[in-house]
Amino acid sequence: MKIVVASGKGGTGKSTLSANFSYVISGNRDVVLVDCDVEEPNLHLFFEEKGKESIVTLPIPVIDENKCDFCGKCGEFCQYGAITVLKDQVMVLQNLCHSCGGCLIVCPNDAISEVPKTIGVLWDAQIDSNLRLITGVLNEGEANGIEIIKTVKRLSESSPLVIYDSSPGTACPVIETVEGADFCILVTESTPFGLHDLKLAAEVVKKIGVPSGVVINRSDGSDNETEEFCRENDLEILLKIPFDREIAAIQNRGELFSVYYPDWQKQFTDLLDHIESLCGGNR
Ligand code: SF4
Ligand code: SF4
Repeated sequence: MKIVVASGKGGTGKSTLSANFSYVISGNRDVVLVDCDVEEPNLHLFFEEKGKESIVTLPIPVIDENKCDFCGKCGEFCQYGAITVLKDQVMVLQNLCHSCGGCLIVCPNDAISEVPKTIGVLWDAQIDSNLRLITGVLNEGEANGIEIIKTVKRLSESSPLVIYDSSPGTACPVIETVEGADFCILVTESTPFGLHDLKLAAEVVKKIGVPSGVVINRSDGSDNETEEFCRENDLEILLKIPFDREIAAIQNRGELFSVYYPDWQKQFTDLLDHIESLCGGNR
């Protein structure tokens, strides 16, 4: 069972939900929690544990100008504009390269080879006997977060129960995170901005073909418009987390509120049971 926690905008409490949900359900199940928000990962802050670090590299082409006759075939082939062939020079724009390897194949003179380029790191932490946290971190200035997301997903895919914390928004990293999931929890909040971004996120997840439901975080009780949108779009409201100063204070200390509230432990356990039943049982 692979569950993504996503939101159309930042600041809705998506990571708070991912961390508390994973912590609670790891009480009696093995859970892998994956931080796919690779530009701003923050789940490790809840668990104070980064774990073992390993680097993530991508193969980047380098040109042997002794073999190159500047025919231009590599530049014509590269659909990402990552190679520019001049009269007597070939320039590789590393940040545009998607490491497809195509330029190596089309070069008639075997003038292109690859070298690894570090784009980020992974942290792999065993938080306790049932909970493992995998975090992807994209290096500052790097553009290819998708490769880090693919790597953390590969590392976790054999696990029976995985929670993916997506980056906010609806851009490519979100699509990469949601693809292949069994279910997506869309986290929103009781504001017009929250509803606006929920609509965008729900549409994207629907297009990918992943079933979804909604959690309203920091609910102030005025959720009529969100409820109406969910009704009209067959989106079940799975849970409401009310605005609560005590919960906010616990979070501000970087702690998990579910540790302090047995009632929330039951609600998160029930949430997993419900999602599994919506998906046709434990996958
Ligand atoms: S395809 Fe090969 S030979 Fe042609 S310009 Fe590129 S590197 Fe040089
Ligand atoms: S590896 Fe692919 S993306 Fe990178 S420069 Fe070559 S053709 Fe372009």
